[in-house]
Amino acid sequence: MIPRPPRVANHVETPIPVRDRRLGGPHWWDPDRIRHLDDMPHHCPACGFSLDGPGGIVVEYWEADRRMYHVWCKACRWAGDVVRVRRMIGHEAAD
Ligand SMILES: [Zn+2]
Repeated sequence: MIPRPPRVANHVETPIPVRDRRLGGPHWWDPDRIRHLDDMPHHCPACGFSLDGPGGIVVEYWEADRRMYHVWCKACRWAGDVVRVRRMIGHEAAD
């Protein structure tokens, strides 16, 4: 039997100058990485259960320039999106 080539061949060998490079130290992506850690929710917005570790799932994604986190809580099964609001513009409440 003749082996078939894989359907998806996306393996790319790492170039030699990059292969032994260490990733320690400061990088251009550090401000984004730090913002990710600052904005990421650590507790469920519905019940307050810790989302760190096996307590849930927090996945970051973007809508244009908005950083959003899809959250799923293992304790109460709440799922939804969390967005940090740095400036909120609303209307004055009626008297
Ligand atoms: Zn919860």
